[in-house]
Amino acid sequence: MELLKERIRRDGKIKAGNVLKVDSFLNHQMDVQLFAAIGREFKERFAGEQVNKILTIEASGIGIACVTAQSFGVPVVFAKKTQTKNIAGEVYTTQVESYTHGRVYDIIVSREFLGQGDKVLLIDDFLANGKALEGLARLVEDSGAELVGAGIVIEKGFQPGGEMLRAKGIRVESLAVVESMDEATGEIRFRGED
Ligand code: 5GP
Repeated sequence: MELLKERIRRDGKIKAGNVLKVDSFLNHQMDVQLFAAIGREFKERFAGEQVNKILTIEASGIGIACVTAQSFGVPVVFAKKTQTKNIAGEVYTTQVESYTHGRVYDIIVSREFLGQGDKVLLIDDFLANGKALEGLARLVEDSGAELVGAGIVIEKGFQPGGEMLRAKGIRVESLAVVESMDEATGEIRFRGED
């Protein structure tokens, strides 16, 4: 998605630890016009799929998931990060290792909002090692719902998440795949470019 790649080149900042900072338009301040275009792009890519629910993870996936859900005309469910232990019964739960914080946390989704008969599209802002998406896919599987695929705004193609998820048979559509980024020069190369 050219518009997105141009914006990443213009406003993205490369930080230590292979972190791409895009908080001026994606996950702190949010450019909702760009979000709307992203939502339409996901709708086009998954045209023909019978999606009836979008699933994301709090917090930074929620905005993108909402505009995407508007394009599909379906609700969003977001997995909550929790420390509560005695929650078995009413929720599906799994553990996820955080890329940016380096620790493990539990995520939950109420059984009320996900289950057999649902056709679920996962949406997230970033794909790095794939732990967040893998956790969401586990919740979908546990619930008996069907996983249609995953829509990602920025995939870091030099990290293993995309390959790992595709090898599991999950359809992953990333709008910008960063092949390399150089902290010293600020240069960013995207997949599909020379
Ligand atoms: P994964 O589970 O795929 O390793 O990481 C995905 C999550 O980590 C995303 O939901 C995102 O919040 C965060 N993340 C991973 N890499 C980056 C990055 O380069 N920049 C930012 N801003 N967040 C990232």
